[in-house]
Amino acid sequence: MSCSICGASARVLETNFHGAIVDCVECGSYVVSAEVLKKKEFSGKVVAVQATRLWLVSQRLGHNHRPVITADTVRWVK
Ligand SMILES: [Zn+2]
Repeated sequence: MSCSICGASARVLETNFHGAIVDCVECGSYVVSAEVLKKKEFSGKVVAVQATRLWLVSQRLGHNHRPVITADTVRWVK
């Protein structure tokens, strides 16, 4: 699978009906919800790479869990 953010080839640690846990060299590891994956696939939406990476960094500060990209937190290209 490719990274849901930047499209580079990425390691998928786990995938289920909730979504996927992705580990990308450039973006780091994160969880992406199935809803976001579906929107990407079926509505042709594109994730804003830089804005999302910055958001991931901010989410990791002080947290030990992987950031979760959901329909509420995803940054689409406008
Ligand atoms: Zn990536």
